Amino acid sequence: MRWSLKIGRVSGIGLYLHVTLLLLFALIGYAGFVEMGTRGAVWALALVASVLACILLHELGHSLIAQRLGVQVRSITLLPIGGVAALKGIPEKPWHEIAITLSGPTINLAIAAVLLPFTGQMPRLFAISMPHDLSSFLATMVNANLTLFVFNFIPAFPMDGGRLLRAVLALVMSFPRATVIAATVGQVLAIGFVLVGLKFSLWLVIIGVFIFFGAEGEEKVVRTRGLLRDLVVEEVMARDFVVLAPTATVMRGLEMVYHTGQDDFPVMDGDRLLGIVTRQDMLDTANQRGPDTPVVEAMDSELPPLPPHTRLSDVYETMMTEGYQSLPVVQDDRLIGLLSHDNISRYLLVQSGLKPARRRAAGRTRTPAPPPVIRDAPPVAVPRSPATPPPPASPS
Ligand SMILES: [Zn+2]
Repeated sequence: MRWSLKIGRVSGIGLYLHVTLLLLFALIGYAGFVEMGTRGAVWALALVASVLACILLHELGHSLIAQRLGVQVRSITLLPIGGVAALKGIPEKPWHEIAITLSGPTINLAIAAVLLPFTGQMPRLFAISMPHDLSSFLATMVNANLTLFVFNFIPAFPMDGGRLLRAVLALVMSFPRATVIAATVGQVLAIGFVLVGLKFSLWLVIIGVFIFFGAEGEEKVVRTRGLLRDLVVEEVMARDFVVLAPTATVMRGLEMVYHTGQDDFPVMDGDRLLGIVTRQDMLDTANQRGPDTPVVEAMDSELPPLPPHTRLSDVYETMMTEGYQSLPVVQDDRLIGLLSHDNISRYLLVQSGLKPARRRAAGRTRTPAPPPVIRDAPPVAVPRSPATPPPPASPS
């Protein structure tokens, strides 16, 4: 995630802190200072840091169980609205999703249970106030963890409750259908939050908006993955594209953007693929280092080559999470295609425009693909010949 500072690494998972949290620290520290001077500021900062540590443990709970069940975890990011554990892929076995989902809130319940005997008072939900000594600090920590536990069970994506609802529904129906129902429940709740929030609390409005779009995003990912499930890269990739020589200038590449309608270009030295250069790479390089810089200095040479028979749903997720624009499709060390978001979205556009019965029946009509057509960019743009004047109208 952009604007995130790396704070550590656990079990191969990068831990990040979003910079906006520093603002939250400053605000709450200031509020503590206004209330009780330096002592108040110290307690307030200790509270924010400890609650964040509990949120981090919650996300680690999800992540470590996910790893045990074979789902890779890319990172954990702490944001002012909570923590986000970025899983590589959504677990599709309902019991796996249930286990991963429950492991987060269970950590908060456990923290509350461990601290409770030291507070000497009854825990109260949503009662989070500025601490002024150790006992009020511990009581607030218990209340905060119980609140996190309960709040996360609201059945709305991207809260844990939404995932739990989906997983339970998926025990008795298909995964995409369960996702649609869970997302709809989440969106109805989100609208409710916004309406209630408009009257009582801005915070609730923000959470409502966040949930509404979270639910929509989750549904879209699952729907897309369902449509891409039985496809392999070769069936959707671009086969007809232009490549650039390493010595071509970025300006030449940018001209090819409008001449060909292509945004990303493989850079080839003869038969050897050196990398891929995107329109944005070329624009940035042209602006910073001049239009005559060769594309070889603007390209990305670290992109993983895709074998043509890779499952498209897996590649789609990698492209989304890693932010790849285009990936080269390579067979026997030879470039045979180019896969971009554009290919995938055009495929989805075509499929969504067809009646269900006419959609591509996966695996049924796999015709051998035609060989790719790879053209080099012409060395120079061909100037247009001056327009010949129209013949004079014949006298009538
Ligand atoms: Zn969670």
